[in-house]
Amino acid sequence: MPFRTRYTGLVNKYHDRLPLADDVRVVSLGEGATPLIRLNNIPRTLGSNVDLYVKYEGLNPTGSFKDRGMTVAVTHAVSEGSEALICASTGNTSASAAAYAARAGIKAFVLIPDGKIALGKLAQAIMHGATVLQIRGNFDDGMRIVKELAEQAPVSIVNSVNPYRLQGQKTAAFEIVEELERVPDYHCLPVGNAGNITAHWMGYSELALGPHDPPTAAYLPCGHRPFHSGVVRERPRMVGYQASGSAPFLRGGAVSEPETVATAIRIGNPQSWDYAWAASSESGGWFDELTDEEILATQRMLADHEGIFCEPASAASVAGTLRDVRSGRIEAGSTVVCTLTGHGLKDPDVAKQHADGAVSTVDATTGAVKDAILGRLS
Ligand SMILES: *Cc1c(COP(=O)(O)O)cnc(C)c1O
Repeated sequence: MPFRTRYTGLVNKYHDRLPLADDVRVVSLGEGATPLIRLNNIPRTLGSNVDLYVKYEGLNPTGSFKDRGMTVAVTHAVSEGSEALICASTGNTSASAAAYAARAGIKAFVLIPDGKIALGKLAQAIMHGATVLQIRGNFDDGMRIVKELAEQAPVSIVNSVNPYRLQGQKTAAFEIVEELERVPDYHCLPVGNAGNITAHWMGYSELALGPHDPPTAAYLPCGHRPFHSGVVRERPRMVGYQASGSAPFLRGGAVSEPETVATAIRIGNPQSWDYAWAASSESGGWFDELTDEEILATQRMLADHEGIFCEPASAASVAGTLRDVRSGRIEAGSTVVCTLTGHGLKDPDVAKQHADGAVSTVDATTGAVKDAILGRLS
């Protein structure tokens, strides 16, 4: 009788592929092992037979992929004796840092941009007991301050400039290849600070490259030899989508006043700039941009047609993919994975805007409710 082993998070599952000591005390909330869902209804409208999957990272413990990186970064920080974390955040990093700090019994300080953080993310940081500092500036200002501060105060920075973050995030690529039993042709994701596209390329490269192959230039060193298995031959093309108001990879340089409804990718000066370019060019992929309207329409479509609720930034990956499938840039017959980076419940205000006119008030009688239903059943 084979017993299933209880799943206890990605560090325990992939420990041999992570730069952590064997006997380290793991700080985990059971992150990873998120569903890879095949889209059924949306592809039918495309006129192209692509196999389209979404990796629903919104189902991580704090509702975004940031938990994959945070379990490794916090495990490492605690093993080095750290007693406090710090990050700049558009919201999800602070939610994740706050939760993992609580789990580890250490302090978290989070810098968020003035008034531009989704309500659910702020609620998480507060509930998990982080010290929340709202700065009169944007994410890029916060990032600059945090990097300077980490040199002057005994705090561990847990933004994706911390290489342990990307080590954890690379495991999403492992899961996808295991589940599909092949490498996708394309992997599409929203790009903000550009850590996640880099981490996925690291993960795919570790699977595809042997110890004697030249390494990828998109590898953030962290004092350890990269794990290389060479168990597959292919790697996907990496495609990064940005919001038009916040698209430094399309503009060829930093954007000083980034603006978009997709607050998670409202970043003008991506920290993993060179690595993300390396991932894109080595893989034969590209960057493209979406308007806020396209992003919101796709967020709604995923919720309405597939039952999958993601936050606006996440929908950028699917919005861009659908456009590139329609244009033929992504060829018919391709297998495509899109990362849905965060859960839709993170940003209830945006959902509320969508919902205008969606709620009708009727009398509390069976007749009134029956009339309201019958009108919509035909
Ligand atoms: C952090 C985040 C992103 C951007 O990821 P990067 O690694 O900064 O490029 C996209 N979507 C959501 C929901 C996020 O939380």
